[in-house]
Amino acid sequence: MSDSIVIIGGGHAAAGLCAGLAEAGLGARVHLVCAEAELPYQRPPLSKAFLKNPEEALQSHRAEAWYADAGITLHRADPALAIERAAQRVSLQSGAVLEYERLVLATGAVARRLPQLGAGLANVALLRSAADARRLREQLAAAASVTVLGGGFIGLEIAASARALGKAVTLLESAPRLLERSVSAEIAEHVLQTHRGAGIDLRLAVAAEGFEVEGGRLAAISVDGRREPVELLVMGIGAAPDTALAEAAGLECDNGIVVDACLRSSDPAILAVGDCANFPQTPGGRRLRLESVQNAGDQARTAVATLLGREEPYRALPWFWSEQGGLRLQMAGLMPAGGEIHRRPGATPASFSLFHYSGARLACVESVNAPMDHLMSRKLLEAGKSPAPDVVCDPKTALKALL
Ligand code: NAP
Repeated sequence: MSDSIVIIGGGHAAAGLCAGLAEAGLGARVHLVCAEAELPYQRPPLSKAFLKNPEEALQSHRAEAWYADAGITLHRADPALAIERAAQRVSLQSGAVLEYERLVLATGAVARRLPQLGAGLANVALLRSAADARRLREQLAAAASVTVLGGGFIGLEIAASARALGKAVTLLESAPRLLERSVSAEIAEHVLQTHRGAGIDLRLAVAAEGFEVEGGRLAAISVDGRREPVELLVMGIGAAPDTALAEAAGLECDNGIVVDACLRSSDPAILAVGDCANFPQTPGGRRLRLESVQNAGDQARTAVATLLGREEPYRALPWFWSEQGGLRLQMAGLMPAGGEIHRRPGATPASFSLFHYSGARLACVESVNAPMDHLMSRKLLEAGKSPAPDVVCDPKTALKALL
């Protein structure tokens, strides 16, 4: 039987798995199967530096020679088409068939698209892959104005980049506030005012419908019944876990591929990590699926431990960040429902942190332009420390001293 470890996916989780397995001396057993032609690359710059600067290159996690030195076999631009679980093999688009002892699904998430706006429209874009980013960069360079659908991280980061390029930017969010899935109402309001202050026409609780297509382009949309011409439209309306292969193979899926705390799917020979994995937050407790670089990297480490035969349940503190023009948002921990919020001022009026408590327990800290406070709060949360609110809110308190 084959002793191969086949990884499907070319994102942050896949890159982390390759690094961990190479470090453990198992590189020669690894096959990395990527749908894209690129080596695994950093995704965060795609909506920021990459979009703004035509000279900005894609940042690969590691050079091609590194994979060769580690003994990892790369299958690029060759998506996996099917998993045969009984025979323990994966077939690729090229016709290649890879046998595996263990298979890791790091398939990520797929950007949502409005069904009315098919892939063929020349002035409609979304942003998930390097190819999407290259196309959007060119479209943006040629446009004077852009309409962004969705006020999540991707929509706001793209809107801020487009504004920095001098474009007239309209952002339409269907919910009554921004970033509903990821930050508190207080932070969302600060983000809203900052973007409006930078000249973005940002509208909440609006419905974009009535899509007018002419000659392969989107000519106009109807926003709350009013016709608005469109030069370029970008969708940032969320992502769905890519479970197509897993579902076809009969693995248990429910908002992602269902895994245990060691990231094993309903077939113990198959693991799932990153955006596509639905994991238990605590043993037997609430299930969670996180779309973040932190989660991809830390789950890759857990998966490597599982592959090495160690039982190391996934327990990492969730944290994430977003850069939108001059705004640097950093969050650590998960926001409790109905918790108490205490504000710690930062060095400038545009810099502060919100400490969220669930009873006396510090559960989450959101920081705006306060990277050191974010770093120290993360350490506090990781250490399970809950300093009293009046102590953390005193700007004279050095958070480091509370560790
Ligand atoms: P998201 O966080 O789900 O935000 C999408 C937003 O679009 C939601 O507020 C949603 O509102 C709204 N929306 C949905 N349909 C709409 C419509 N028809 N018109 C107007 N608004 C609409 O997802 P995202 O921002 O698209 O991000 C996609 C993925 O990229 C996620 O995995 C995200 O984590 C990742 N990403 C992360 C970062 C970061 O961590 N810094 C940066 C970029 C991207 P409802 O909630 O009401 O549907």
